[in-house]
Amino acid sequence: MIPAAFRYERPATIDEALALLAQPEAKALAGGQSLLPLLRLRMAEPELLVDLQDIADLQGVRHDANGIWVGALVRHAELAQSAPWRVLREAAEATGDRQVRRLGTIGGATAHADPAGDLPAALLALHAVVEVVGPGRRRELPIDGFFLGPLTTELAPEELLAGLRLPQPKPGAGSSYRKLRQKASGFAVAGVGAMVRMESGRCVEAGIGVTGVGLAPYAAAAASGRLLGSGLETTDFEAALELLLDGVDVQDDGYASADYRGRMCRLCALEALESAKAEALG
Ligand SMILES: Cc1cc2nc3c(=O)[nH]c(=O)nc-3n(C[C@H](O)[C@H](O)[C@H](O)COP(=O)(O)OP(=O)(O)OC[C@H]3O[C@@H](n4cnc5c(N)ncnc54)[C@H](O)[C@@H]3O)c2cc1C
Repeated sequence: MIPAAFRYERPATIDEALALLAQPEAKALAGGQSLLPLLRLRMAEPELLVDLQDIADLQGVRHDANGIWVGALVRHAELAQSAPWRVLREAAEATGDRQVRRLGTIGGATAHADPAGDLPAALLALHAVVEVVGPGRRRELPIDGFFLGPLTTELAPEELLAGLRLPQPKPGAGSSYRKLRQKASGFAVAGVGAMVRMESGRCVEAGIGVTGVGLAPYAAAAASGRLLGSGLETTDFEAALELLLDGVDVQDDGYASADYRGRMCRLCALEALESAKAEALG
């Protein structure tokens, strides 16, 4: 299908992009891997596409005293190769095919908020912080709570996602991502990112991000909270898995019943947690 006509601009700075996005019916374009299919299906008909690819301030990865900053334009393929956390490398590698990974960006995947997006689950497990810029303001939002529903986030239409802030991996930390793919599309029927950190045999930090299961990716805070202070024994994992779907409207559709999806989610979580623990123990 052919998209409806639109104007196209390619700003060089964040300020220029924000000025363009302030115009009615304007939309940011990053890797185009989610937006262009929507345009072709005419499910989105923006009058102006603001291509972000020349904006240097949205590129690259920086390490500083506050942790690791990953620019919105960093591509899935780069993350799969060199992200500082294994959960992010595995989630990026599990995203789409080679072409999608070469073009798609971490900012686009986060802003798009696909209910089955892979990177959001990894970012939730890591307790990432979303850096947002808007006209005359900059704000930082915890990723837990950023995804409001299908394709809906805390971002306002005139704002840009500038980057994501991640913690620096510390000794005793481990993380992993597991996903059950839909056979046709490759998207997650269920996907779980897990992060744990151990000190003297006890879990002192944990995070679990779930995708493909509810109406939006979410942090399973009760489940990860159950792991804190424990030795991450099988019984601890089993108790945490009981809390994984608490309060979640588990989706029931043509791909999977709610019951099957819930079971697969627990299985992915168990595998991700065991793999994260193995990495944490070296
Ligand atoms: C064949 C195919 C298979 C795929 N399989 C998977 C899969 O298995 N798992 C998965 O998670 N994803 C999958 N995807 C989606 C892919 O990961 C996309 O790359 C990603 O969802 C969007 O990233 P993008 O950079 O392409 O964003 P775009 O498509 O350019 O933009 C997506 C949305 O985000 C907005 N946006 C982009 N960047 C910003 C920004 N910096 N600030 C504010 N708003 C912004 C755009 O306005 C748009 O609304 C697949 C896509 C295709 C085409």
